[in-house]
Amino acid sequence: MKWLLELLLPPRARCAICGKPGQASVCTPCTADIAAFQRLQSTGLVKLLGQGKVLALLPYEGAVRRRIHRLKFANSPAIARALAQAFARAEVLPTCGVDLVTAVPMHRARYLERGYNQAELLGKELAAVQKLPFRQVLLRTRSTPPQNTLGRSARARNVAGAFTASENLTGRRILLVDDVCTTGSTVIACAEALRQANALDVVIAVVAISLTRSQG
Ligand SMILES: [Zn+2]
Repeated sequence: MKWLLELLLPPRARCAICGKPGQASVCTPCTADIAAFQRLQSTGLVKLLGQGKVLALLPYEGAVRRRIHRLKFANSPAIARALAQAFARAEVLPTCGVDLVTAVPMHRARYLERGYNQAELLGKELAAVQKLPFRQVLLRTRSTPPQNTLGRSARARNVAGAFTASENLTGRRILLVDDVCTTGSTVIACAEALRQANALDVVIAVVAISLTRSQG
């Protein structure tokens, strides 16, 4: 009987967050975690980067941390797609007021080494589910050591001025996508570059955000 069911049913989907097989694209416990975090964000109890608007799906811990690690090192468009759909379902992203999606760029040398940029994969999938155009309008002007090898203040110095916009963005309202936000130095430096190119508004969206500031 079991073999017959396996033959008839489509292959089981995996939860976008924890990766466990199941029927739903986001399992019940992970859906509850997302909802709890969204409530926490809306109460203002979670202080997310003073100057910018950062929208995050979950805190950077546990299952989502492992999932992002897979996205980073296993070139998986399927994971990016599943995470983008989880974003859309959780209604975290603004439904209006954004007209362009872009992503934190990777330096060319690192891109060539890895073959893909996980932030771009996510950005493209988010743009697709939100029915918005995606364009990489940021350039990394110099190669910088990976942020996770540095402390908090060194991270800010590391990426300051490392980005520039490749076109004039006058009047654009931009959704800037990255996978993880820890100190925020990278997304803040990117948002700054977008504003310098005359972007009207920049909203930052990350899958996961670090809540422990001391992590750097
Ligand atoms: Zn799950």
